[in-house]
Amino acid sequence: MQVVTNPRVLQEETIRWRREGLTIGFVPTMGFLHEGHLSLIERARAKADKVVVSIFVNPTQFAPNEDLASYPRDPVRDQALVESAGGDILFMPSDADMYDPHAATWVEVPSFAKNLCGASRPTHFRGVCTVVAKLFNIVQPHYAFFGEKDWQQLALLRRMVCDLMFPVELVGCPIVREDDGLARSSRNVNLLEQERAEAPYLNKGLELAKRLVEQGARDVAKVIEAVEIYYNQHIFLGKIDYLSCVDPDTIENLDHVETRCLFAVAMRFSKVRLIDNRLVCAQS
Ligand code: AMP
Repeated sequence: MQVVTNPRVLQEETIRWRREGLTIGFVPTMGFLHEGHLSLIERARAKADKVVVSIFVNPTQFAPNEDLASYPRDPVRDQALVESAGGDILFMPSDADMYDPHAATWVEVPSFAKNLCGASRPTHFRGVCTVVAKLFNIVQPHYAFFGEKDWQQLALLRRMVCDLMFPVELVGCPIVREDDGLARSSRNVNLLEQERAEAPYLNKGLELAKRLVEQGARDVAKVIEAVEIYYNQHIFLGKIDYLSCVDPDTIENLDHVETRCLFAVAMRFSKVRLIDNRLVCAQS
């Protein structure tokens, strides 16, 4: 496996691969890798001839008050994991490699960025879209793999890829969870012990929403209220940032449960904000 830091060097290599007729699978990450990331790399390995994994903690998607400085990092361990998962190139640029000091271009999908995480992180998705657009231009992938854990991000990137005609197919991959149901996240290490004990209830609350819909509930406000009560009974150290039911494709709020709907939650603990979601399909 090659480790590359210079975007131009990587771009030359991927252009060469394309000329040889090889397909390229791309897995963008912020590192501190876990089973969730590895599942994306496995999918890429199975679908493409060459696999590029990037590790870049993108500063433009963090607001000044957010956890950029405390975001967990372990590049040496990550490198070994990507190599054993079958990555061909690990791309680890510095901030200066990725952002020219005079950079002035942003990519935005405002209508998809206003709800859920965008409401409390108003500049987050602009940073995500911009860095992913740049990474696509550097890596030139045929396929790019994203986790459904960040469902809103995936929906918004699908819109961006369609609108800007990137020649790439986005592949959504299911959420990988711990044995107790907590969605795997690099940020989980920043939970305090008691917070870690409460965190699995995030997923259990979403399961309750799914069960209520399966039992016939259609009024979103009532389902949300039941889940809020459940959270208040089981989670004492976390504060709900949002708990919403949205159209899974447009991320618009729903009042009534439709055939397909997404229950999504974000909760703030002392040093970490966790997100999770559940796609629910209602019988009409
Ligand atoms: P991150 O390093 O957190 O930016 O995540 C990089 C990619 O891995 C994104 O596409 C995430 O959605 C995906 N990912 C993170 N956690 C999980 C998980 N638990 N299951 C599946 N995919 C995940």
